[in-house]
Amino acid sequence: MANKRDYYEVLGVSKTATDDELKKAYRKLAKKYHPDANPDNKKEAEAKFKEVNEAYETLSNPEKRRMYDQFGPDGPQGFGGAGGPFGGGNYYSYTSSGFNGFDGFSDFGDLGDIFSSFFGGGARTSSRQKTRGPRKGADLNLNIDITFEEAFLGVEKEIVITRPETCDVCHGTGARPGTSVTKCPICNGTGTVKQVQNTILGQMQTTRTCTNCHGTGEVIKEPCDNCKGKGTVRKQPRIKVKIPAGIDDNQTVVLRGEGEPGEKGGPKGDLYITVRVKKSSVYTRQGTTVMCEIPVTITQATLGAELKIPMVDGSTEIYTIPEGTQTGTKFTIRERGFNSISSATRGNFVFTVVVQTPKRLSREQRDLLEQLARTMNEQPPVKKRGIFG
Ligand SMILES: [Zn+2]
Ligand SMILES: [Zn+2]
Repeated sequence: MANKRDYYEVLGVSKTATDDELKKAYRKLAKKYHPDANPDNKKEAEAKFKEVNEAYETLSNPEKRRMYDQFGPDGPQGFGGAGGPFGGGNYYSYTSSGFNGFDGFSDFGDLGDIFSSFFGGGARTSSRQKTRGPRKGADLNLNIDITFEEAFLGVEKEIVITRPETCDVCHGTGARPGTSVTKCPICNGTGTVKQVQNTILGQMQTTRTCTNCHGTGEVIKEPCDNCKGKGTVRKQPRIKVKIPAGIDDNQTVVLRGEGEPGEKGGPKGDLYITVRVKKSSVYTRQGTTVMCEIPVTITQATLGAELKIPMVDGSTEIYTIPEGTQTGTKFTIRERGFNSISSATRGNFVFTVVVQTPKRLSREQRDLLEQLARTMNEQPPVKKRGIFG
């Protein structure tokens, strides 16, 4: 079973067809080839019906479609299994007369699509597949700045990126609709040319990308007006990026399939978004722990106090520090730190008490402090290291 028909051909859609286009094509063909609707030609209709179903089953499933695009109709070893979409026995060989037998041919979209599928199908069995096979699109990289609070709570950002996208007019073939892509005469469709070079080590044969077709193996006689034959046009789509709560500075969010379009029906590349978290004027972070300093007065530190601690999410936590709290003492509020991205845990909130020595006193405060001073007017002994430290 050498020449299995290309699933895109079976459905009469381009390699970049959207889910909707696939569904539409499938419905139409399924109706047309339903064995009950073809009582005179039941056997052939049934075969086509099966084929259409098989094609749709694979292409309508994003993961299967990706595998199909990447590995071709035979699939990687073991994929699908016997009787699965790639292992089945629904071999169907098409001929040009069979193809012309399609009624409503023109309903399948523009001819460019179909011709490009033919070319893809024709090349599939040859050894050229390595150079001409589907290739994943390039990945894109981007930085995004968010605030400390946004990193804490998680945020959805809308970004605008510039990237090539598959041309809507030619669906990526680069050929003007109604025209076809032809084999490159320079490299005979291989996309590469062999060159012999004289070097100090002797003659070396190198393989270079064909400059005539830029390695595609195809030339476009009548380029698509919209994309000038490139098959892609630069667009600036708006993309929503969900940044998870707990993300740290320099961590990356990956949006699968938001990179550049693949070649020859290969999957799209990915978009890597590196998140840069701005510094906070109040908080710092260590792992999932949030830290901050809380100023207290000498009386709060001495007598103990109920403190209002501002949380990163904007709420307030009441925390009672005991009497005799020393400056620099750390207190922990459990599980009010950052969410962990890798596990379902949450960090702590740790605050450090900083005793503020008053710089200005009212007369009354000064009198009171002087009274206090008379009762404890003696410098405490110098602590020896290692005993209390
Ligand atoms: Zn185009
Ligand atoms: Zn070429």
